[in-house]
Amino acid sequence: NQLDTLDIVVLAALLLGTVAYFTKGTLWGVTKDPYASSFAGAGGAKAGKTRNITQALEESGKNCIIFYGSQTGTAEDYASRLAKEGKSRFGLETMVADLEEFDYDNLDTIPSDKVVMFVLATYGEGEPTDNAVDFYEFITGEDPSFSESSDPPLGNLNFVAFGLGNNTYEHYNSMVRNVNKALEKLGAHRIGEAGEGDDGAGTMEEDFLAWKDPMWSALQEKMGLEEREAVYEPIFSIVEREGLTKDSPEVYVGEPNKMHLDGNFKGSFNAHNPYIAPIESSYELFSVKDRNCLHMEVDISGSNLTYQTGDHIAVWPTNPGEETDRFLRVFGLDTKRDQVVSVKALEPTAKVPFPAPTTFDAIVRYHMEICAPVSRQFIATLSAFAPDEETKAEMVKLGGDKDYFHQKINIHHLNIARVLEVVGKGKKWTNVPFSALIEGITKLQPRYYSISSSSLEQPKKISITAVVERQKLPGREDPFRGVATNYLLALKEKQNGEPNPCPFGLTYEITGPRNRYDGIHVPVHVRHSNFKLPSDMTKPIILIGPGTGVAPFRGFVRERKRQVENGETVGKTILFFGCRKSTEDFLYEKEWEEAKKVLGDNFEMVNAFSREGPKKVYVQHRLKERSKDVNELLQQKAYVYVCGDAANMAREVNTVLGQIIAEERGIPEAKGEEIIKTMRASNQYQEDVW
Ligand code: FAD
Repeated sequence: NQLDTLDIVVLAALLLGTVAYFTKGTLWGVTKDPYASSFAGAGGAKAGKTRNITQALEESGKNCIIFYGSQTGTAEDYASRLAKEGKSRFGLETMVADLEEFDYDNLDTIPSDKVVMFVLATYGEGEPTDNAVDFYEFITGEDPSFSESSDPPLGNLNFVAFGLGNNTYEHYNSMVRNVNKALEKLGAHRIGEAGEGDDGAGTMEEDFLAWKDPMWSALQEKMGLEEREAVYEPIFSIVEREGLTKDSPEVYVGEPNKMHLDGNFKGSFNAHNPYIAPIESSYELFSVKDRNCLHMEVDISGSNLTYQTGDHIAVWPTNPGEETDRFLRVFGLDTKRDQVVSVKALEPTAKVPFPAPTTFDAIVRYHMEICAPVSRQFIATLSAFAPDEETKAEMVKLGGDKDYFHQKINIHHLNIARVLEVVGKGKKWTNVPFSALIEGITKLQPRYYSISSSSLEQPKKISITAVVERQKLPGREDPFRGVATNYLLALKEKQNGEPNPCPFGLTYEITGPRNRYDGIHVPVHVRHSNFKLPSDMTKPIILIGPGTGVAPFRGFVRERKRQVENGETVGKTILFFGCRKSTEDFLYEKEWEEAKKVLGDNFEMVNAFSREGPKKVYVQHRLKERSKDVNELLQQKAYVYVCGDAANMAREVNTVLGQIIAEERGIPEAKGEEIIKTMRASNQYQEDVW
C-alpha cells in the first residue's frame, strides 16, 4: 500500500527532525502527548503557550502568520490553504493562528520582514465571529494601546486581508472592511487588495481563488520571494500503532476530547465540549411524504447548560455511514478502517484537529467534513496523487477550469469521495497521503438551530425545528442529503420505532463512540445570541418568519403566553408566517390556536401560503397589505424580528418595511430606509437569518 510508503516512511523521516523541537516544548508546554492537552476539554489547551505574536513567530522561526476569524470553519480552512500555498510555492515559513489565542498590543513589534494575514468572516449583522471579538474590539477601538509608542503605531506592519461575507446582509464583509480601515489608520501597509468573498452570490471559493493570485504576486515583490515548483510537504505524520485496537481504553473512537474518552461528562459544555443530551421526544411537523421537518425536544437537565429564548443550539453531527464508507473505500482505507494511528503535527505551530490515538474510521466519521462542497484548489492539489496519468490530466483540467469544474462537480453537489470515484473511474487513490486529507478537509462543524422553545416555560428543555435537507439533482441517482438534518431524522425514526426508516439514515452510527449515545442522545451546546424579546414586555412585537424561520417565534409566542398565564400584561404580537400550503407544511398550526386562546386579540397570525392561490404570495406581500397596522405598531415603538432565509426574504422584508414607513408617513423612501437603519442600530429591528 503506497500510503504506507509515502505517508509513513517519508513522514517518519521528517518527524525525526521535528522531535527535537517538540522536546523543547517552548510553544506548546509540551506534555508526553502534545495534542492530549488540546482536547482536554474547554480551556485546557492554553497552558504554557505564548500570547505574544512576535515571540511566537520568533520561537517557531516563522515569517508569516495567518490569523482566522471563523465561525463555521471556512475562514479557518482558507487560512490553512494560504499557509500551505505560501510554504509550498514561495518557501514562506507560515503558521495558522486562531485570533482568540493571541494578544494584539504587540502587533507593533512585528518586524517589517514578516507578514501578517487576516482571513475574517463577518457573522450575523456585521458582527465578528466569536473567536474574533476581542481582536476586533481592540483594533477598532478608540485608541488601541501598543507596547511601544511609535508613530504611526503600526508603521512596520505588513498585512494581507481577505473577508468572507454575504452580500444579502446589510453589513456585507464589514469585518474585513473595518479591520482593514483600522489597520491602515494605524499606519500598517496592506499588500495586495483586501479581498472579499461573497457567499450570497455563491462565489466564495472563486472570489478567494481570484483574489489570492494577485496577492501572492504583490507579496512576492514586497518580500522578494522566489517562486519554486510547488512541493507537497505533509504537516502531519500518521503512525500506525501496533498493540492498540479500537477497543483499547486510550483509543479515541469518536470522542471529542479526553473527558468524553474517560466517560466524564462533567464540566462546562461549550463549543469545545458538547453535552450528550437525551432527546426526550421527536416528531414530524409536515404532512407530506416527500419532505420532512422535525420537532425535537432535547433535555439539558443533566447539565449546567442554560439558555434564553432566542438563543441557538448547536448540534454536533456525525457523518453518514454510506459516505464514510465511500471515503474510506476511495482512499483504499476500507480494510484498515479500525487500524489505530497516532497523528502528530510535524510543524510546531500546526494543530491536529482531533484527538488521537484514533482510527481512520473515527477520524472520517466524526471529525472531517467529508460531504461538503469540494474546492477547486484541493482538486488541483490531489492531482499530483492521481492513480494514473489520464486521471491526473482530468484532475488538472478540473482544478484549472472554473466553468468545467462547475458543470462536472458543483451542480451535482458531489463531495470529495464522489468526485474521485467518478474522475478515477473507480480506481483507488492510495497515493494520497492521509496528511493531505487532514489538511485539505475542514473539521466537521456543529450546525446551529434557532431554539424554538421558551426558557420561561421550559428552562431545561430545548426544542429544535429543523427541515431535513434533501434535494433531487440532475445527473444523480440518489438525492443530495444534508449531514446533520439526516442524522436528526435517523434519531427521530429510531426514537419512534418507525416501521420504514430511511435506508440512508440507518447508516448513521447513532449510538455514538462505544455506544455512549445509546438511548437516543445527541451531542449539543448552546450559543447565546442577541436575538431577544424586548425587556419591556408591554412593547408590541412584529415577527416575520416563513418556513423554519418561525422557530424562534414559537419560543417568543410561548413565552408571551406563559407571561399572561403568570398574570403579566404583554403587548401585541403579530406573526407573519409563510409556507407552501396550509395542508402540507403549516408548522405548529394547532399551537398558534392554543396561544390565541390565552393571548386573545393581543395575538394575530398572518399567513402567506405561497402555493394556494393563482399567484405566489410571500410574507413580504402580506406585510405590505397590512401597511397601516404595521406602521401604527412601529409608531408605538414595536420591535421587529426577522428570521429565516437570508438570501431573499430578509432583504425584501427590510425594503418593504422601509416602503411602508415612507408611504404611510408621506416621507421619501430614503428616509424610510434611514428609519429602519436607526431601528437596527438600537436593536429595535433584529435578524436571525442563515
Ligand atoms: P449540510 O450538509 O450542511 O448542507 C447544507 C447545504 O450546503 C446544502 O443544502 C448545500 O446547499 C450545501 N452543500 C453541502 N454539501 C455540498 C456539496 N457536496 N456540494 C454542494 N453543496 C453542498 N435550520 C433549520 O432547519 N432550522 C433552524 O431553526 C435553523 N436555525 C439556524 C440558525 C443559525 C444561526 C444558522 C447559522 C443556521 C440555522 N439553520 C437552521 C441552518 C442549519 O444550521 C443547517 O445549515 C441546516 O440544517 C443544514 O444542515 P445539514 O448538515 O443537514 O446540511
